Amino acid sequence: MKEILAPGENRPEDLKKWLDKRGIKLILFDLDDTLIDTNNHFNRRYGDFFALVGKRLSFSADELTQFTEIFHRLDIEVFYTHFVNPVRYLELGKKLAAAYQPGREKEVSAAFEEGLPILLEIYKTVPDFHPGAEETLSVLKTTGTEMGLVTHGNLTWSNLKIRELDLKRFFNHFWVADEDGVKNSGDWLAAVNSFPGIKPAETLVIGDNLRGDIMAADEAGIRYKALIPSNWVVYREGGGAMPANTVFVPKIDQLVDSLLKSNLSC
Ligand SMILES: [Mg+2]
Repeated sequence: MKEILAPGENRPEDLKKWLDKRGIKLILFDLDDTLIDTNNHFNRRYGDFFALVGKRLSFSADELTQFTEIFHRLDIEVFYTHFVNPVRYLELGKKLAAAYQPGREKEVSAAFEEGLPILLEIYKTVPDFHPGAEETLSVLKTTGTEMGLVTHGNLTWSNLKIRELDLKRFFNHFWVADEDGVKNSGDWLAAVNSFPGIKPAETLVIGDNLRGDIMAADEAGIRYKALIPSNWVVYREGGGAMPANTVFVPKIDQLVDSLLKSNLSC
């Protein structure tokens, strides 16, 4: 008689069956905010930056709140022209100074210049794994399924993350999409094609960006998708309906359970 296991103890075996039933041979992951806490990595530096600028400009609490609101609004604006390229902060600095005309633009500009290294530090250091991310990747790896990483951003920073987080433990192939654009279906297709003999219909994509991960993967013909929403406003905008065969996952440490509970078609 088969011993009854507590929930979770037979996950690699159950997961292997779940994947086999659907013919999934490849799992492709997004990196930022799907596996690592990039949002918090940015917000910590933004907090330090606001503190420095507030001090330099002798802002009252209300003035500082107003400054951070203008900063976040302009950050979204420059995201749509420069995406994840760090040069977007130079553009943001100009727009911020202009927002304080007349009279304070020079002062704001000087404070921004002083704080800029704090913002650029974002791209010289590495975010932490989300709780449970490494354990989840280990369980997936145990199933023997091919695994690849499709990230989007500054190449030097991406390579630093891959090295410092030791991502070669989990992934056989890495794909870094252009930092000056959004991740698109061509990126996902190229990533699938780097695994000879595997088709998009045999692939599962996991990401936090509705447009750049889930919808782009769907457009590439990738059959199975899992969305783990992050805090970035711009990544919650998809401009359309959620593609078929997409599982909603609250947090990365619930990925395996969410897949097993889902009724994705076979
Ligand atoms: Mg992401």
